[in-house]
Amino acid sequence: RRRYRIALIPGDGIGGEVVPAARQVLESLGLDLTFVELAAGWETFQREGTALPAETLAALERCHGALFGAVSSPSHRVEGYTSPIIALRRHLDLYANLRPVVSAPVPGSQPDVDLLIVRENTECLYVKQEQLEDDGETAVARRVITRRASARIARVAFERARARQAASARPGRSPRVTVVHKANVLPLTDGLFRETALAVAADYPDVAVEEQIVDSMAYRLIREPQRYDVILAPNLYGDILSDAAAALVGGLGLVASANVGDRFVVAEPVHGSAPDIAGQGIANPVATVRAAALLLAALGEPEAAGRIERAVGRVLADGIWTPDLGGTARTGQVTRAIIQALQSS
Ligand code: NAD
Ligand code: MN
Repeated sequence: RRRYRIALIPGDGIGGEVVPAARQVLESLGLDLTFVELAAGWETFQREGTALPAETLAALERCHGALFGAVSSPSHRVEGYTSPIIALRRHLDLYANLRPVVSAPVPGSQPDVDLLIVRENTECLYVKQEQLEDDGETAVARRVITRRASARIARVAFERARARQAASARPGRSPRVTVVHKANVLPLTDGLFRETALAVAADYPDVAVEEQIVDSMAYRLIREPQRYDVILAPNLYGDILSDAAAALVGGLGLVASANVGDRFVVAEPVHGSAPDIAGQGIANPVATVRAAALLLAALGEPEAAGRIERAVGRVLADGIWTPDLGGTARTGQVTRAIIQALQSS
């Protein structure tokens, strides 16, 4: 039996409610897990002058992976503040952002959706090199696409497509990767991403490949999400498509993603700190519980991850819903129902 040391970074707002909920679910699995709670976020910044303290980074080095809640970020510029999740991605070289998008038995979810968005997580516009020209009238941002980062994210996409097929996520259908770009307008940057992904595709003759311009991708994702399997995209397009896709299957309270590198994984719910409902005990814990499942899967415990997913599916099918889904259940009730479903499975 393997032992895992897992960092919990609740962050701000409802992060402090949904991360403890996910911890209870993890604790009920009978795995050998140790938890380390670490500080990051806006409240941490106000207290310590940094959103990602050195102690947090140092403690992460001694963990196998982390579960991240949410942080509040001010919309205005605050000197010295940068989003800790973006800093973590860079610091730990978490180059792949994986977002499974799967139909849920809740109001507003499209049926028969089962896709995975694989988003490059380190470059593109997120290198955050912006400049205001001297006249103060023009702002310029640098967008970086490298062959190295494009190739390694493409490999992740094709490997995942294969693995999904093996786990028969889509029985009877051949695995497929859809490469998203805008190479018609940006032949050098997006052209490099496209060309690199198509070159990697040649190593995976068993996986079909197709390409899709990002704007029509947005359209088709909404119109016919059922037709997609693995969607591969550069950072910004992937960010936008990921959130849009979450809306197809029940929304912010349900969907999670994993930031994966070769040595570490940070899993997180899609949603933010939800200050409008923080402290009321009504935050939906499902997205963070599912993030915990993604974390376990990435650590090499797919069986435990599958158990969590099935338990969540049963609780949602039973209509045990928080108010964001139209129900009346509280965070604690949903959490207990998930644990009960786990124990009776
Ligand atoms: P949000 O996701 O926090 O909330 C949007 C709406 O969805 C709110 O009405 C909220 O109540 C609801 N909601 C979100 N999660 C929910 C849950 N688990 N259960 C029930 N309802 C839920 O987005 P926002 O309001 O735009 O941002 C609030 C703060 O969060 C901002 O400071 C923003 O910068 C930050 N944020 C952080 C992350 C992150 O940490 N990754 C992501 C998005 C936003
Ligand atoms: Mn986003």
